[in-house]
Parts: sequence; structure tokens; C-alpha cells
Amino acid sequence: MDEKLWFVEQSNYKAYENPKYETVFTLANGYRGLRGWLEFSNYGFPGNLIAGVFDKADSQTTELVNCPNPLVFNIYTENEKLDIDRCVVLDFARKLNMKEGILYSEIKLKTQKGKIIKIASERFVSRSNVHRWGIRYTITPINYSGKLFIENIIDGSITNNEFEPIKKVKHLDVKKGYDLDTGIAIKVVTKDKGIEIVEGTVVRGIGDILQNRKYGVFGEKVREIYEMRVKEGKDYTIEKYGVTYTSRDTDKDPYYLLEEDIKSYLEKGLEKELNLHRDKWKELWDKIDIKIKGDKKAQTGIRFNLFQLSSSAYEKDDRISIAAKGLHGEGYKGHVFWDTEIYMLPFFIYTNPEVAKTLLMYRYNTIDGARKNARENGYEGAQFPWEAADDGTEVTPKWGVDYDGNPVRIWTGDEEFHISSDIAFGVWEYYRTTKDKDFMMNYGIEIVLDTSKFWSSRVEYNEEFDRYEINMVIGPDEFHEHVNNNVYTNYLAKWNIKKGIELAKWLKKEDTNIYEKLLNKLDISEDDINKWREIESKIYIPKDEKSKLIEQFEGYFKLKDITIKEYDENGMPKWPDMEGCKLGETQLIKQPDVVMLMLVLGDEFDLETKKENYEYYEKRTMHKSSLSPSMYSIMGLTVGDTKNAYRYFMKTVLTDLEDNQGNAGLGLHAASTGGSWQCAVFGFGGLYVDKDECLSLKPWIPEKWEELSFKINWRGAILDIAITQEDIRVNSTDNVKIKVFDKEYFVEPNKDLTIKALAYNN
Ligand code: BGC
Ligand code: BGC
Repeated sequence: MDEKLWFVEQSNYKAYENPKYETVFTLANGYRGLRGWLEFSNYGFPGNLIAGVFDKADSQTTELVNCPNPLVFNIYTENEKLDIDRCVVLDFARKLNMKEGILYSEIKLKTQKGKIIKIASERFVSRSNVHRWGIRYTITPINYSGKLFIENIIDGSITNNEFEPIKKVKHLDVKKGYDLDTGIAIKVVTKDKGIEIVEGTVVRGIGDILQNRKYGVFGEKVREIYEMRVKEGKDYTIEKYGVTYTSRDTDKDPYYLLEEDIKSYLEKGLEKELNLHRDKWKELWDKIDIKIKGDKKAQTGIRFNLFQLSSSAYEKDDRISIAAKGLHGEGYKGHVFWDTEIYMLPFFIYTNPEVAKTLLMYRYNTIDGARKNARENGYEGAQFPWEAADDGTEVTPKWGVDYDGNPVRIWTGDEEFHISSDIAFGVWEYYRTTKDKDFMMNYGIEIVLDTSKFWSSRVEYNEEFDRYEINMVIGPDEFHEHVNNNVYTNYLAKWNIKKGIELAKWLKKEDTNIYEKLLNKLDISEDDINKWREIESKIYIPKDEKSKLIEQFEGYFKLKDITIKEYDENGMPKWPDMEGCKLGETQLIKQPDVVMLMLVLGDEFDLETKKENYEYYEKRTMHKSSLSPSMYSIMGLTVGDTKNAYRYFMKTVLTDLEDNQGNAGLGLHAASTGGSWQCAVFGFGGLYVDKDECLSLKPWIPEKWEELSFKINWRGAILDIAITQEDIRVNSTDNVKIKVFDKEYFVEPNKDLTIKALAYNN
């Protein structure tokens, strides 16, 4: 297949685009992310984000710390510092090779004094040893011979950016600079949690090219400088080795680990690490790749999303999860939202269940914080935070800015309750697909039961109607705050409690011992569970009596009915005339809410209901969140709106590449990367688990796609599924029963099942 389809390229340099490309070209391995910061420009936001390194200091709320920038690498031609923004850019190309996880760049610059210099580099963040990263520079003086200086710096003066109010937040104190003889290191410590971070870098010239080394600590920067004598037209290669450890990795001084690791890294050499790294990506791609033949833009686009989503996860640390912005930027303060369980988790469940389990274990390991939230708010059980950091307590900031930049009170942390059932749903989805009983019995069920307990304390009994209500909430659509009986929230709370009852019964049968211990631990009695039954059956679900239309929340249909009439050149809705109303007084919504419910709990709604609601809400959805288009794509395919489905799919896969939400510079739209996978597999692939827990397919692919293919892991069997315009092919490593367009088939190991004459062509 075309090698080009593995590359994301930038061929033009514009300083104002630096932040976006820093996000797009971030290299991450789940342990850390290094933004694609350009060494030779002063514009942009360097980012070295290490998962789990949270701190508050003077920030509004706990946030992921931007750690010392180890990428600083200055080049001086004689005494002129190379600064791309003061040079004539003769050539500029950056290329992310997604197949191998390597960022290539080739830049040719002419300085103000007329010196022309070419710098090529390869950068990687190792997937094989997550503490390591490296860069190989090749420097060529094109039109001069003489002196050149190389300055290798680790910058500990880095701060985080807070937007409301706009200020710099300092999280780090520099404790020590280290002269490694062949390199430099820095130790910093975070202000209130006292997490130590050590970064070390070593530069090595190939051949004896680096001379007169000088080491120094300047303020909060550690530096070494080398002199080179260069000849016109000759290539000079310098390797930069980077190693990182934090006190989260060890009980000892993390510097010892760094020292040891740098030593063995240098002994092995950069190329060896690079090869191990390449091998890891090869292994990964074999599990995760989605091939779309006949549509190059879609092909590269989907790969970008798979690449960055995979880069955001690290299966060996179950104290961390994936933030809304990945490890790709400071946006949303490195917090974890429902984005993880509802948007990203399915990708991992079906391609890399070990990672999925780790992500859920993070919730399990932070459940005490969730219990604290519940207690503080006057409820019982576990109330997971709308925004989470390292301990499960609520960290949503109270203040932010609105679309016009005015300060606003943020209510999501007080009211967006659905997160607790989203997590319970994630637990169930993982179990349904993997049948990982050990996880369910020992961890998952505790989450489901304690969230059930939370909901049973959160509901309010309305005597007049003999029903349970959930009032003063925000649903997935955040345009409407303080609403009563949001259907998504109520329905999922009901589902959560029901699942709690069902799983409690299951556990009692499976292992009475564990069951009794757990109920004891959670202080849940069988009477409580009986009470849950009553609550669950009476949770209020607002409905339109005359149609199949579901009212997003009580009173929604009475709001000013303004619909979208015009679309911009990107096919995104334009703000309609608000007729003097405030946003919350209209039926316009930010992102799917009722439609979201019908995707999460697809089996609970018939096709007619889905269709009617899709048609109604689609006209009122502003897609002011990257979480929106993917879901409309999948539901569009379910109800037969195939044209829009493709458009929404492309919006989704290009969210960051084309920056269509306008804020890619702040970090990856990680939910949308998961949404991309879901569109391809659940949407076009039409894959779902039916009521009888049978794996089912109802694919549809656009006319120009010759083939869509992907692999999934279904209860340990690896299925290879290919869909063309003529047939569907399924291969499996084990015996599997599968339904295709509602008809049952048995797939035998390593024998292609081919089904011709597709229903979707008719
Ligand atoms: C998001 C909320 C979030 C808030 C503060 C808003 O833009 O829509 O979900 O809680 O920012 O981070
Ligand atoms: C969306 C939320 C989402 C958050 C983080 C907000 O804009 O409305 O649904 O969880 O961003 O991505």
C-alpha cells in the first residue's frame, strides 16, 4: 500500500501555526508526551507532559504540570543564533511517520548575515523504554566554513498557562543541575505535591566534532555548550539522548534511575533504541490499523487518530488515565473526562484489552476520591468527578471564559453527574467484550455497585407523580444548565442501578464469599438492593406522548425553537439568529444528548425512535464540541442518513489535522480520536453486540471506498474483517459465532467466511 498514507506532512512554515503543529506532531508513549515544538522558533508552547504529574500551586485547581523542556537545542553560526523567525526560510518540511513513530524535519535557513544552513532531524519518544527519547540531527553548512556552536539546554523555568484569569502558573522549583561530563541533567520538584522530576540529555557528535565543552547552570536552566569547526557542504551528525524519571517511578532518588538508564542507553546507542521503538509500533499497528482503500484523505486521517490515541496510553501504570487533550497540550489542565470511557475506551477494549483494563483500574484506584465527592455533596456511594486528576476528587475549575472571552462560572463540576454512570457503562462494556471475570469480580463490580448506591441517594422522590427525579443537572449538552430530568442522565442512572442489581445477583451466585465481603465493605444490605429495584423502576423518563420524540429534559420542548439554517464552508452550522434569546433559552444544543443516549444504550430504542430523534436533534446541534460529529455519523448510518455520515466522519478524523474546532494548539481532541475509531468500526463497519451478546455486523461503506478493513479482539479471538462493495470477509483465530445482517454464521479458525450480495447494495 501507498507509503505516503502513513505520513502527516507540513510543508510550509508559518509561525502562527506552530501551536497547532506542536499538537499534531506530538510524540507520546502514554508515560509522557513531547509536543512537536520547533527548536529554532520562539513562537509556540513547548510541552513536556508526564502522565500523573499533577500539582496545584497557584492554579485554580490541580493540573497536569508542564515539565522542564529538554528539547532546547540552539545553534549559533559564528555568533548569530539561529532563529527561524529572523531567517529566510529556504526549505521547510516536517513529516510525521506514523508507521514508525518518528518525526522528521528538514529545514534550510538563510541567516541575516547570509549564512545558509540545513538542519535535518529525526525525533522519537520510545515505545520500548518509555523513559527514553532521542533526536538525531544532521547539520550542513551550505555556503560557509568556520565556527558553529551547539547549545544543549534543559529549561526548568517552564510554567503552565492559566486562562482565567490569564496568568503563568509556576509549579516547579529547580533543586539541582547535574554535570554528566557527557551531558546535563536537572532535578525539579513540584510546589505542593513534592513530585521530583529528573530530565537528562546527552549530545554526542558522530566523529570527533564536538569540542571545548562548557557546562553551567543559569538561573533555572542547565546548559552545556560545544564548539564545532565546520566545512562548507559537509554533513555533521549529532545524536541527542534523552531520559526522564520521576519520584512516581521509584521510592529512591529518581536521579539514580536516570544515571543508570542513560549509561545503558549510551552503550546501546540511539539506533538500537530506535529499532526497538519501531518494532513496538509494528506490533501495535498490526492490532490497530484500519485500512480504507480508495480514499486517501480518510486513510491518513484515520491513521493519525489511531496513532495519537495509542500514543496516549500506557498499560503499565494504572494510576493514570487519558486526558481530554491526551499528553499533547495543557488544555483542560490534563484532566480526565467521560471522554475516556465513552469515546476512547471502546478502541482499547477491541484492540488492546490490557490497556482498557488499566484505564478502568485508574477509576478503581481513585474511587476513594469519588466517595469523598459523594460525602461532601451529601450523597452516598461513589460520585466520580466530572473532571479528574490523580485522586478522584472533583477538580473542575469553577471559573472559565465563554465564547466571547468573558469570565463565566462553570457548573459542570457541580452538575454534570452522568460521568458516574458513564464509568459504570465502561466497566460493563469491557466485561461484555472480554469476559474478564477476574476484573469484574474484584474491581469492576465495586464501581458499578458504589455508583448504584450513589444514584439511589441522588434521586429525589416526587410524591405527586410517584416517581424518582434527578434535578439540577447538566447533560452531555452543556448549553443547558440547571435542568431537571435530563433523559441521558436519568436513563443511564436507571441503567446503572439495574446493572448493579443484576451484577450483585450474579456475584452472589459466582462467589458468596466475595459477595458478602463486598457488600460489607460498601455498607450495602440486601434491603438496600430491594430498594434500588423500586427506585430503578420509577426513575422518570420524559417523553412526548404523541410521538417517538424524546424530550432532552423537562421543559426542553417549550424553549424557543430555533433551528440551524446555514452552514459554513466547512459544512459546520452557522449560528442562527437568536431572536434576542440567550443560548440556554433556545433548543439549540452543543452536542448530542438524546442521540448520545441512543448510541450508548442502542438496544433500548427501536429504529423508528432513533430516526425520529436523529432528525429532530440534528437540526438543532451546533457541534460546538469535537465529541459531536462522530456520534452523528454513527447514528446517521444507523438511520440511513449516509451522506451526512461521511461528512461527519471526515470532520471527526480531521478535527486536529484541519483544526476544525479552532483550538488544536491546546492539545489533542482525544475523544474525537476515539470517535474516529468508533465511526469506522461501529459506524461504517456496523459492528455491535446485540441483546444476546452476539457479535453482529451491519456494514455500509461509501461508494468510493473499495475496502474497509480492521481487526478486533472479541473474547480473545482476533477477527479480521474486510468489507468491500461486493462482500464481507471475516477471518478469525478461533471459533466465533457472528451475525451479519441479522443472519447467524459460524467462523472457523483461519478459514475465511465470505458473504456475498450485500444487503446494503439493495
Ligand atoms: C467544558 C466543560 C468543562 C469546563 C471546564 C468547558 O469548556 O465544556 O466540560 O468542565 O470547560 O474545564
Ligand atoms: C464537551 C464535553 C467534554 C469536554 C472535554 C466539552 O466541550 O462538551 O462533553 O467532556 O469538552 O473534552
